[in-house]
Amino acid sequence: MDTTTQYVFAFEDGDGKDKKLLGGKGANLCEMTQIGLNVPPGFVISTAACLEYLDEPKRALPPGLIEQVHEQMRALEQKTGKGFGDPDNPLLVSVRSGSAMSMPGMMDTILNLGLNSATLQGVIRATDDPRFGYDAYRRFIQLFGKVALGVPDEAFDKEFAAIKEAAHAKQDVDLSATDLRETCERFLKVVEDATGHPFPTDPYQQLEIAIKAVFNSWSGKRAVDYRKQFNITPDMANGTAVNVVTMVFGNRGDDSATGVAFTRNPATGENKLYGEYLVNAQGEDVVAGIRTPKPLDRLKVEMPDLADQLDELRDKLETHYREVQDFEFTIEQGQLYCLQTRNGKMNTVAMVRTSVEMEREGLITKEQALLRIAPESLEQMLFPRLDPNIKAESVAQGLPASPGAASGIAVFDADRAEHLGKGQGLKVILVREETKPEDIHGFFASEAILTSRGGKTSHAAVVARGMGKPCVAGAEGISVDVDRREARVGLTSFKEGDVITIDGTSGKVYLGAIPTVEPDFTPELHTLLGWADEMSKLKVLANADTPDDARRARRYGAVGIGLARTERMFNDVERLPIVIEMIVAETPEARQEALDRLLPLQRQDFHDLFEVMSPHPVTIRLLDPPIHEFLPDEHVLERELSELRALAQSARGVTVLAGAMGLLHASESLRREVETARHMVDPTVVEEAIAKKEAMLKKVRALYETNPMLGHRGVRLGMTFPEIYRMQVRAILEAAAECAKSGIEVHPQIKVPQVCTVQELRKVKEYVDSIHAEVAARYGKPVRFQFGTMIEVVRACMRADSLAEEAEFFSFGTNDLTQATFSFSREDAENKFLPLYNQSGLLQDNPFDVLDVKGVGKLMQLAVDWGRAVKPDLHVGICGEHGGHPASIAFCHQAGLDYVSCSGPRVPIARLAAAHAALKSAPTPNA
Ligand code: ADP
Ligand code: MG
Ligand code: MG
Repeated sequence: MDTTTQYVFAFEDGDGKDKKLLGGKGANLCEMTQIGLNVPPGFVISTAACLEYLDEPKRALPPGLIEQVHEQMRALEQKTGKGFGDPDNPLLVSVRSGSAMSMPGMMDTILNLGLNSATLQGVIRATDDPRFGYDAYRRFIQLFGKVALGVPDEAFDKEFAAIKEAAHAKQDVDLSATDLRETCERFLKVVEDATGHPFPTDPYQQLEIAIKAVFNSWSGKRAVDYRKQFNITPDMANGTAVNVVTMVFGNRGDDSATGVAFTRNPATGENKLYGEYLVNAQGEDVVAGIRTPKPLDRLKVEMPDLADQLDELRDKLETHYREVQDFEFTIEQGQLYCLQTRNGKMNTVAMVRTSVEMEREGLITKEQALLRIAPESLEQMLFPRLDPNIKAESVAQGLPASPGAASGIAVFDADRAEHLGKGQGLKVILVREETKPEDIHGFFASEAILTSRGGKTSHAAVVARGMGKPCVAGAEGISVDVDRREARVGLTSFKEGDVITIDGTSGKVYLGAIPTVEPDFTPELHTLLGWADEMSKLKVLANADTPDDARRARRYGAVGIGLARTERMFNDVERLPIVIEMIVAETPEARQEALDRLLPLQRQDFHDLFEVMSPHPVTIRLLDPPIHEFLPDEHVLERELSELRALAQSARGVTVLAGAMGLLHASESLRREVETARHMVDPTVVEEAIAKKEAMLKKVRALYETNPMLGHRGVRLGMTFPEIYRMQVRAILEAAAECAKSGIEVHPQIKVPQVCTVQELRKVKEYVDSIHAEVAARYGKPVRFQFGTMIEVVRACMRADSLAEEAEFFSFGTNDLTQATFSFSREDAENKFLPLYNQSGLLQDNPFDVLDVKGVGKLMQLAVDWGRAVKPDLHVGICGEHGGHPASIAFCHQAGLDYVSCSGPRVPIARLAAAHAALKSAPTPNA
């Protein structure tokens, strides 16, 4: 009884689904053979054999393997009617590697194995074509020499070049049979010189050497490096299979050809065979670019019969695999063979189109149509990209802070950006060391933002993302000189007015204009995302602060605003002075006076948001950042004050001078000039300015905090400055009442940030209730609203049950919650130790990018469960940056959240990810 493992599988017998055992190429060769496609006879040696061989210290083939190979070779001889090593009618084979994942760096294919001086003569007799025979032989000697014996290509190339030169041949095809015979002789010598042994002539010996060489290539440096770089674990691909395939020849004359094709166009998704072929050529010639291949449309003219057969092959492949296929074919004297197939790699536009079309054709279900597209890949269709056909060298690299690419002239401050961008209609890119709230008007006027400092949560990054503008942050290779309006990068520089291009998707910065490709939100993407919404349980809302943001988010399919930040509204250039007045106010009356001026502005903001989003909910977060953020910098104030004081002294000096004119016997005209000077700078005005600035400086100092992010912010502000929150609540409720009056359906949600005790929430609820009663009385009708809290501190998670007594909804702010859970400040962590933590495996991911499911996620789960135990219909969502990331969205689905909220342009990604989460966690039918 034979009990040895089966290592070798004929194409008729191998399990086409078992890519791990047979490799992708081998499994598909089996599958294609078994569904009746014309594949040249052959067999696969399993990856298990490869692993055993590599484990064996002496690198001996596993016992029984060679016998099984011989048995399969005899079967091949029977199927083809040829003999391996038979000089009268020789069988030739190719030896091809192939693992579960396609992997450049694996061993190259050896063609025409089985040739030696005797079988060569057989080929020549059988084909009556010496040129063909010698050509096949010289290819074999070189491939075998290089791939199996490690003889470098250069040694062959040198000889080949010499022969071409002697024959005055420009191309390989210009060489005669005699030239090629000469080539073979020289090549045999090259191998003998390099290895110290004559070229192996026994076909079985050739085969064994080739098999071992394929196995060895799995542990070769090229392949190991590749697997490391692309994180290919043994789980995904372990060992390579070896495919031994009967040779078919596309180079047997003008009725022969070889080509590669996609069943659909991989660039556009168009449902039309796409590919190239070469008449009278062997496989590798198409890829090698030795001759220019022709588009497959030509085949209809040159070989109409075969074009039909190829169409048929295409249909069979697609109906079987139900996926776009990328396949290789060869035509030998009018006979079509398929040599390989695999799932086609396409860009996202093509993926989306083929998904929708294949569903309509009944090839795949809606679920499959959705699952074949990686949510993250949609980014390609949502943001402008650099034209992929243009090759350009970047001059600096920063962080990819907000995706998309843009070109424009460099400007170095917000006012110039506004002047040139808005004023003169030029495309500008705002270049700063870092940006501040007071630069906001520059953002509006710019195509994109570039900073030389700061991370992915710097002001520039956050604001640009919110606006959907490209941003590269922290490009440290650039040094910005605002005064000279220029920036230095390495040895070059650019000035205001010079065109630069930035790519916020890669973080690269270029000098000059590089063409960009506009995003295309195609009708197919619309359809696909419509299906996604049908399948998903999570709703997708957007973070949006302005009506423009909100409109865009709606276009992307957001069904509400999950986070509207009111601080952005405070930062508007026209409002900032009022906001400052409110902060600096010494008395409650003075503060109220400033707030009374802010109220109508805020009310209008909210009214506009409600109107744009109607009938969807709009969640407004009450003021969150520490208020000193709205005040100028302490050092700037100090400098200004010392300048004002100097001016005051000068002004007083001029007054003294004017009084002293009588002593000077000065002329009338000089007297007049001094008098004018005295009027020009009025000391009392200067004193007044000094007083204001001093008050402000005092306030800045009083508000100073060592740790502002853990300090006087969020609901703590609402406790100490209740009038600010009251104004905001009033603005929300009045805006809602006014909308309702004019027939606009509104669903306002009031959200309180940074809450850690239910008492805080109750206090704010008191304001809300009293203002609500007042507004209802005035408008004659109560407005409906929801009241809820952010969950972003650890205590809020721990007290979720009691918070749920007051809150109708929870909204996780996972950026703060992550900082709070790790006790990491994000900026410091990302700039200092996190990269090391990630590299050395102390932490697997950056928790600010990828939600830390094990820690932060566990807190979230507790909060959800405890909250719902008290209030079963508690509405729960996430509004942090994580809300737009597929892996985090999957977690949110599992944790039972109702919605995710993310920046507008990420909404489509989140919609698809939400559908994936639902589909992947659904119990499989019949399981
Ligand atoms: P790769 O993984 O680099 O595509 P392949 O094993 O597919 O390597 O082979 C390289 C080229 O040789 C391809 O063009 C293929 O079609 C061709 N080829 C491989 N085996 C044969 C064969 N038995 N007959 C004819 N051409 C072949
Ligand atoms: Mg290749
Ligand atoms: Mg191939």
